[in-house]
Amino acid sequence: MTAELIETTDEISPEAEARIEYVYDLYRESVNPGLAKLMMFAGFGDIEDSGEGCLLRTASGKEYLDFVGGFGVFSLGHRHPKVVAAVHRQLDRLPLSTRTFFNQQMAELSQRLAEIAPGDLQYTFFSNSGAEAVEAALKFARIATGKTDFISTNGAFHGKTFGALSVTGREKYRKPVEPLVPGVVFVPFNDLNAMENAVTEKTAAIIIEMVQGEGGIYVASEEYMQGLRRLCDDRGILLIVDEVQTGMGRTGRMFGVEHSGVVPDIMTLAKALGGGVMPIGATLATSAIWDKVFGENPLLHTSTFGGNPLACAAGIAAIEATLDENLCQNAEERGEQLLTGLRQLQTQFPNIIKEVRGQGLIIGLEFPMQEYAELTINGLAGANIIAAYTLNNPKVIRIEPPLIVTKAQCETFLKAFEEAIQMAHTMLSDLEV
Ligand SMILES: *Cc1c(COP(=O)(O)O)cnc(C)c1O
Repeated sequence: MTAELIETTDEISPEAEARIEYVYDLYRESVNPGLAKLMMFAGFGDIEDSGEGCLLRTASGKEYLDFVGGFGVFSLGHRHPKVVAAVHRQLDRLPLSTRTFFNQQMAELSQRLAEIAPGDLQYTFFSNSGAEAVEAALKFARIATGKTDFISTNGAFHGKTFGALSVTGREKYRKPVEPLVPGVVFVPFNDLNAMENAVTEKTAAIIIEMVQGEGGIYVASEEYMQGLRRLCDDRGILLIVDEVQTGMGRTGRMFGVEHSGVVPDIMTLAKALGGGVMPIGATLATSAIWDKVFGENPLLHTSTFGGNPLACAAGIAAIEATLDENLCQNAEERGEQLLTGLRQLQTQFPNIIKEVRGQGLIIGLEFPMQEYAELTINGLAGANIIAAYTLNNPKVIRIEPPLIVTKAQCETFLKAFEEAIQMAHTMLSDLEV
């Protein structure tokens, strides 16, 4: 069964095949049987084994060009040498915090973030994931404003813990666990009027992604962001910008919000902040907010593992590498290259590619039908390129290569993509006859 399902692989050694079968069985017995089947079905019935730069090797001996990039985690590629070295050094001294003495790595990362963050975002609270970063943001907004309610957007993704899920605009994940945090309303994305109409005296904050990732890659317009900033100022509301996926250079700027020149009151980071080596979450805010949140009780919000030296050493190295290697600029240029190439293909195959959208190296390709997306992904896999459609919006393929991706690698991708589309086109027109 295994060999059949990873049919794109030419030849798999019996040892590799046995190993895949073994892990597949473990998934079925001890992890999540439904997920195991889903992964097999989606063509990911292989084991991730090692990574280097934009390349990922699997148990079956295949070497893939990684154009999923961990949905934004691997902005520096796999095992960036600078981050790995920083983590090794810290590992040999003190990996986790005693939480009694001062933690120098955390203090230094806070300071670095304050330097590169927009406007007067000065303080950072550290956690271990994107959802936790959002949890802190929501708590801080309630405390700082003395108000309770939040406005989020349809299709938004902010994580799956109770608070984060409460502002996530996906019924499918919300319904089974309701009731969630009360006082949240959802409005259409990029619609300023709808946002204005949703504000009440109880609104504490608006939470927004710079590019809706899970929702299908929709970019927040500059006018929209500027309008949200004005609205928040006029009505005494906080603007929470969730940069968990768009932060650290992904959109061609260090933070996506920079495109509009808007300064948020609270900003969340996670995915790429750990340099693709360590998990870390961060919630940044102004000193005015910090005073209200921690002024009376410096321990009001804490996390045992949050801000651990290992993760913070990775974060410091990740910021350095992103700046030293001009990765924002590369994200912008490679993004332009991919968008131009993909839009050209769209004019060539208007019946197959419905829309191409994105900013920097977060790009979405919308197909008229899920089947087209599946065929394209399979075609790319045959050319040793990993792409993924979101399970939420399976008509959209997401393209999020590491920001270190080269011009030649993007050319390879475009060529393979054209062939995959051509193949899908032929197969589908054969079916129609
Ligand atoms: C991934 C993501 C999250 C959740 O992060 P986790 O680490 O999975 O909890 C939150 N917000 C955005 C915008 C994300 O892309």
